[in-house]
Amino acid sequence: MLMRVSRETKPAYLPVPYLYPVLKDQHGRQSTYLRLAVTDRCNLRCRYCMPEEGIDFAARKDLLTFEEIIFLSEVLAELGVNKVRLTGGEPLSRKGLPKLVKGLGRIFPEMAMTTNGVLLPPVLDELAGYGLNHYNLSLDTLREDRFFQITRRDEFNGTWRALEALLERGIKTKINVVVLKGTNDDELGDFVALTKDRKLDVRFIEAMPFNDDDGNHHLYLSHGEMLASIRERFPDIAPDAGEAHSSSVAYRVPGFTGTVGIIPAYSRSLCGSCNRLRLTPKGTMLNCLYSTKGIELLPLLRQGIGRQDLADLITAFVMGKHKTGHDTQRLEQSGNIFASMTSIGG
Ligand code: SAM
Repeated sequence: MLMRVSRETKPAYLPVPYLYPVLKDQHGRQSTYLRLAVTDRCNLRCRYCMPEEGIDFAARKDLLTFEEIIFLSEVLAELGVNKVRLTGGEPLSRKGLPKLVKGLGRIFPEMAMTTNGVLLPPVLDELAGYGLNHYNLSLDTLREDRFFQITRRDEFNGTWRALEALLERGIKTKINVVVLKGTNDDELGDFVALTKDRKLDVRFIEAMPFNDDDGNHHLYLSHGEMLASIRERFPDIAPDAGEAHSSSVAYRVPGFTGTVGIIPAYSRSLCGSCNRLRLTPKGTMLNCLYSTKGIELLPLLRQGIGRQDLADLITAFVMGKHKTGHDTQRLEQSGNIFASMTSIGG
C-alpha cells in the first residue's frame, strides 16, 4: 500500500542540512521561480491552446493533493525557490484553491497567478489576504465578438470585470495577449493605448505550436513583426528597463504610465536568464516549457519520499537543465507534437 505524505504543516524539518542549498543548473543559473499548474481543466477553450472537446483531463486521484504540493513547496523553498505562480488550466477552477494559496503564502515570499479572471472577483480579496498580489490576466482581444471566436466562450465581460477589480485595488497586473496572425494582430495598438493612463503592463506573446498538427505556424507573428506593427501607431515606443529574469522584452511609450512587453515564447531569445521550474498538475517536474521529459514526483510522494531524498533528486534534475528551449526541443522531443499548454501551464 502506498504511504501518504505527512500532513504536518509546522516543520519539524528545519533546518535541513541539504548538501546543495540552491538549485543551480549546469550553465550556472539558479532556479528560484516555480510555475505550479494546479489543474489541466479550464473554463475557456482558446483555439490555440485546447480543442473544443477538451483534452484527456487528469482524474482527480492523479492530481497532486494540496498536502503534496505544500510538502514539495517546503522542500523547494529550502532549496532557494522564492516565488510561485499558480497556473493551469484555469487555476481558479481547482476546487478549494484559496486553501492552497493560504498554505503557499506561508512558504513563498512572492506569489502570483496567471488566469483568465472569469472566476476571480469573488475570491480576489481573500487571495490578496494570503499574499497573492501579482496577476497575469489572459486577454487576447478587446472585442467581445472576437473573445468568443478565440475562446469559444462568451466570457469577455467576466475577464474585463476582473481587470477592473484588479486595477481598482492597485494590484500589480499584466495582461497577456497571445498574438494570432489574422485574428487579433490589428489590435496591438489598442492594447498599447490601455497603458497610457493605467498602471498596467501589456505583454504580447508569440503564439507557440500547441494544439495543431501543422504546428500553428500560420498564426505566428514574430517579436520584430509585432514591434513594427506597434510602431505604426506609436512610432516613439522605446526600450524600457525590464525586470530581472523577465520572460519579456520591455518597451514603453514615452509619458505612458504602463509598459509594453513582448514575450518571445517561440523564438526563445530570453532563455539565457531563465530561473524557472515547472510542476504539472500530475506532479511532473519540468525544467523548460519545451520539455517532454521530467521527473514524476507523484508516485514518489505517495511512497513517502523523505525531504532530503526529494531535495537531492530535484537538485540533480535541475543540474541537467538545457541552455535554451531550442536545445530542450532538439534533445528531448522526437517531432513537433506538443501537448496542450493547459497541462503545462504556459
Ligand atoms: N487559464 C489561465 C489563463 O488563461 O491565463 C492559465 C493557463 S494558460 C495555459 C497560461 C498562458 O499560456 C496564457 O497566457 C495563455 O494565453 C498562454 N498560452 C496558451 N497556449 C499558448 C500558445 N499556443 N502560444 C502562446 N501562449 C499560449
